[in-house]
Amino acid sequence: MLGWTGHILRVDLTSKTFKKESFTEEFAKTWLGGRGFAVKILFDELQPGIDPLGPENKLVVALGPISGIPAPNTGKAVVAAKSPLTGFYGDGNLGTRVTDQLRKAGYDAMIVEGKADRPTLLYIEDDKVEFLAAEPVWGKGTFATNDWIYARYGKGVGVLNIGQAGENLVRYAVIRSMEGRAGGRPGMGAVMGSKLLKAIVVKGTKPIPQADPAGMKAVGTADLKEVHRIDKDTGWSRQGTTGVLAWCDEVAALPVHNFRQTRHPESWKIDGQRLDEARVATYGCPTCTMRCGIAIHDHEGRESELDYENVGLLGSNLDVFDLAQVGSLNYLCDDYGLDTMSAGCTLGFYADAIEHGATEGDFRFGDAERAKELLGLAARREGKVGNLLADGSLRMARAFGHGSEAYAMQVKGLEVAAYNCKFIPGMALAFGVAGIGAHHREAWIITFELKLSTRDSYGPDKAAKVIELQRIRGGMFESIVACRFPWIEIGWELDHYPKYFNLVTGLDWTLDDMWKLADRIYAMLKLHYVREFPNATRKDDYPPAVWFQPDNADVDGPIAGKHLDHDKYDQLLQHYYDQRGYDRRGIPTRETLAKLGLSREAEAAAKYATLS
Ligand code: SF4
Repeated sequence: MLGWTGHILRVDLTSKTFKKESFTEEFAKTWLGGRGFAVKILFDELQPGIDPLGPENKLVVALGPISGIPAPNTGKAVVAAKSPLTGFYGDGNLGTRVTDQLRKAGYDAMIVEGKADRPTLLYIEDDKVEFLAAEPVWGKGTFATNDWIYARYGKGVGVLNIGQAGENLVRYAVIRSMEGRAGGRPGMGAVMGSKLLKAIVVKGTKPIPQADPAGMKAVGTADLKEVHRIDKDTGWSRQGTTGVLAWCDEVAALPVHNFRQTRHPESWKIDGQRLDEARVATYGCPTCTMRCGIAIHDHEGRESELDYENVGLLGSNLDVFDLAQVGSLNYLCDDYGLDTMSAGCTLGFYADAIEHGATEGDFRFGDAERAKELLGLAARREGKVGNLLADGSLRMARAFGHGSEAYAMQVKGLEVAAYNCKFIPGMALAFGVAGIGAHHREAWIITFELKLSTRDSYGPDKAAKVIELQRIRGGMFESIVACRFPWIEIGWELDHYPKYFNLVTGLDWTLDDMWKLADRIYAMLKLHYVREFPNATRKDDYPPAVWFQPDNADVDGPIAGKHLDHDKYDQLLQHYYDQRGYDRRGIPTRETLAKLGLSREAEAAAKYATLS
């Protein structure tokens, strides 16, 4: 079997033991890697109903067949576990040197189970695994932890680590790597913290098995240069993802004031141009020649690396239009290991709930200094407010009551990304049916939808586009494991990816083969969900209720008086289900599952929930 090492490292923190396990060629071809491996492994190995913060939960770190291979933007890894935020499968990807180091150590994935008896650093070097004391950095932020690790092992090692948020089981704590990379929004950092696992450090020296290493090297090296050239020509990475902020403001899609407003006259103060002008450093993931991590000096003079999501949610969504202060909020999230998106949405919800009288408190929109204090309270789970904030917006809304759940900006417990879908039905659907709760990573339909002026359409073509994007983004990119930005931002053709895959594996896959894999993964995500929530209904695939409310519509601007139409959204959702072969609850039918080769998984899920 070429293209895969054929091995998974299983580590038990309770017994301080490890095993090198083999997987079959059939497993590799059915699940590919990354998210594909993770959905299958966790479905087979986790019992529904377990405590996501208990020792029985497992953390999967999974790479893809092109991970660690020099080719455009292959420096990403998937981290997955049962989510403490959503209560079912959760995952994320992040740029990290674990990508090539773990593959060079001889593994395509690792599974971490059990719980250590003391703060632990897991050190992996080829066939060696050590369980080392992490007390010197327990209680410390991710920047200090990373520095401590680099000082001991050098900068070339792969690192995954957590900050105080992960240690204190904040439900949206992320895993961090390198200077500014983060992943695992639905609390993967808290899962590490629950295992007293402060960091994973990986070093590998073996060659990664490839069918045609010379051919792959020639193609990969040339393509890295070409991507760099196109990026320079288009200028995309000058503003990176933040280039979208001015556009979101123009088309009334910016989150402002907990998504109550869609534009703001001061938004230019935090847009991509201002960020580029304030740039003091640029960072990126391994094997990337279009690096998009733009760092500025924050209000306190520290380096803070920003992208659109954190500017949108920690900036405009909180009415903070001072770029240096947005940088400070972002720096704190990064250092504590908090997900910037969920943190921004949760703070926005808190200010909104106070404004609407659902609770009492001293936090107001625009108060960056108080927002900084609140992030600290959340990361340390300090006091009543800190504990409420640490649980995310949905749990907070349920604690407050007074109808506040309508404006908790989340789906299935995961907070939405920085796209205000008051009147963008396709993007609202993308949030509603994303595999792990509201995430923009899987079907970023918004530009397609607005560029073609199909904003007020709820037709089947829009559901088809969401599926097409899910196949590409949530399926192929998350399993082959590569960054989607060369494709989405600078027009790097999708055909490059099966070509890389075939060069390393010796197989002959087409994009259609990738789409079959993607459909299998999406069906598995739903099986994970229904196994945990047997009474699932189509309402679980609805976006936040506030987007449907007429009294929440903009009073002026391009979408004045407009809002999502409830009945039409329901029809759009039905188009999605029909095209996917799901029943009216949004669950794949037995027939669909059989077609996807998932009959055994259907039987396993049917022990917990009724399948049609
Ligand atoms: S484009 Fe940005 S997110 Fe993608 S690999 Fe490069 S630095 Fe990482």
